[in-house]
Amino acid sequence: MIKRVFPIFLFLFFCHSQQMLAETTDDILKAKMALYKKTEAVTQVPWYYLAAINQYEKNIQKNADTEKLVFITIPEEQWFGIANPSKNTNSNIIGLFEGIGKDGNGDQQADPTDDEDVLYSMANLIAKQGTSKQDIKIALWDYYQRALTVQSISQIAKVYQTFETINLLDSDFPIPLHHNYSYRNTWGDARGFGGRRIHEGTDIFANYGTPVKATRYGVVEIMGWNRFGGWRIGIRDIYSNYHYYAHLNGFSDDLKVGDVVKPGDVIASVGATGYGPPGTSGKFPPHLHYGMYKDNGYSEWSFDPYPYLRRWEKEARK
Ligand SMILES: [Zn+2]
Repeated sequence: MIKRVFPIFLFLFFCHSQQMLAETTDDILKAKMALYKKTEAVTQVPWYYLAAINQYEKNIQKNADTEKLVFITIPEEQWFGIANPSKNTNSNIIGLFEGIGKDGNGDQQADPTDDEDVLYSMANLIAKQGTSKQDIKIALWDYYQRALTVQSISQIAKVYQTFETINLLDSDFPIPLHHNYSYRNTWGDARGFGGRRIHEGTDIFANYGTPVKATRYGVVEIMGWNRFGGWRIGIRDIYSNYHYYAHLNGFSDDLKVGDVVKPGDVIASVGATGYGPPGTSGKFPPHLHYGMYKDNGYSEWSFDPYPYLRRWEKEARK
């Protein structure tokens, strides 16, 4: 009896926990959005910039706790003020030492572990510069002192602003499933097309002209000719991953640098361009070279896209 009941029980438990997980994710997104909107109301800093800063800081953290709301980490000497000897969270004292820690929840404490205080402090820091797009860029540069960070945050903000939500969890496989294509794990192969010294990516073989799609929400960062990559597109997604599409036949009409894309948007078509001056084509069979690069806040490195491609392909089949 137990043997028969147990699998059913397990199955029900599994369904239940999957549903719980979806509900939890939804609740967290709602709670985050409420916090962004509330902070926007008191600081005039657009919610999508606050959301983008928070998302970027989450992206660069190792093993970020997905149930947390705020991931922004303000260094202690900046929070409390450089000359402040104490770690007293009294917001008046922090103010005296010109610390940037502020009280966002009205308890007179500027607590660096309190979500509302942290988000409000960041918003306040930005608002001091101004709330126009250009002002925010300057404030971000002053704080982060890193071009890629400022650019990434601006890109994420643009995506959130475009779709008016932070609930952007979908993905897609870059090739429509009803077209003929094939790929295998070629990560690190000595010979590949369009890689560097080792093969940094996955080659998806398909016919000339097969549509190529965006896989995640992001912004077109680079478009044009590259000696090895041929006609190529680089898209940076909202998780601080850079997606590199190479050897393309051509780009979709009207697509340009700075455009926001969503999973499934056709951005280009498969070709065999590269390994020569602009226009060189046919030196190898047509395929899409797909590369992925991750920014950790200090540097960017390539990682194996193959497991992602497999997952996106599986999900696209559903
Ligand atoms: Zn390749």
